[in-house]
Amino acid sequence: MVRDIRALTLEELTDDMVKLGFPQFRGKQIFSWLHEKCVLSFDEMTDIPKNMREKLAEEYYLPNCRINTKLVSQKDGTVKYLFSLDDGEYVESVVMKYKYGYSICISTQVGCKMGCTFCASAIGGFVRNLSAGEMLSEIYSAQRDLNIKINHLVLMGTGEPLDNFDNVMKLIKLITDEKGQNISMRHISLSTCGIVPKIYELAEMRLGLTLSVSLHAPNNGIRSKSMPVNGKYDIEELLKACRYYASATSRRISFEYAMIKGVNDSDECARELASRLKGMLCHVNLIPVNNVRERNYQKSTTDRQKRFSDILQSNGIPTTVRRTLGSDINASCGQLRASKRKK
Ligand code: SAH
Repeated sequence: MVRDIRALTLEELTDDMVKLGFPQFRGKQIFSWLHEKCVLSFDEMTDIPKNMREKLAEEYYLPNCRINTKLVSQKDGTVKYLFSLDDGEYVESVVMKYKYGYSICISTQVGCKMGCTFCASAIGGFVRNLSAGEMLSEIYSAQRDLNIKINHLVLMGTGEPLDNFDNVMKLIKLITDEKGQNISMRHISLSTCGIVPKIYELAEMRLGLTLSVSLHAPNNGIRSKSMPVNGKYDIEELLKACRYYASATSRRISFEYAMIKGVNDSDECARELASRLKGMLCHVNLIPVNNVRERNYQKSTTDRQKRFSDILQSNGIPTTVRRTLGSDINASCGQLRASKRKK
């Protein structure tokens, strides 16, 4: 079977080279071509003999993201890519510039099974998981195109990372490898809609990344209406897992809360949320919901956002209202792919 060579760890690659009858040091050399220099083809590995490159091309493949559409925000320089994959599917990634450097938000699946009603990624359902090599290719292709070094990784694009657990863990191992891109674990955020058993599994791994949890509601009544996953793992189970995660890892959980006018933005919602989160090592990120053309939601007013935030903070819950980047290019994930599918 032809394997994704970019998904192999240095150890696996070295073992493979020896098995194929090549010297051991070739493993390290190829790893560096793949993850440090980020080549797109075997032919770019110029110090690898031609017959070996041919052998590699027989045994492995190098999945690549090709730029189909690139949008650059005139407001803040945020860059959004619609990449096409080798099988003709599309995924989106977004590069944002912050004071501390560049951050990329990548997709982990083509489409999504979770079906959250406010989310553009759910439109059209689930197609398939991305391989570790494909996810790395989102990062490497963007870096190459912009000629930059990315130092923050956010798994918050299309897809549910904990529903593609093994490939995502592989990606994290590879992107933090000091012989590759060497992104610090502290600079990785993983966002989940709340796959409870996987939160426990992740806690046991003690990785030191930041876990974001898409909460979006203070109770089951509201949450179940927009997030089908809540029917499987309700808010009590989810928050219990979050408390466990925070105490096991000593890392604070970042709760995402998209504020939707008249749905989850009342004073009562804020008070209920505060009482649920009391005493947990956490932080709430309030996000004015993005208008998605296919969805009928409106964002809460600025006054409502402020009031909601004030209630949480006065109850001792650290809260920020998220700054919006790339608003002129539909930078939130799922939107470009959805419009592409329509055509
Ligand atoms: N499946 C993961 C990661 C992908 S979604 C998760 O659910 O966390 C990334 C974030 O964007 C999630 O917090 C999601 O709830 C949020 N999101 C989706 N649609 C949105 C919208 N229209 N407005 C604001 N945030 C949205």
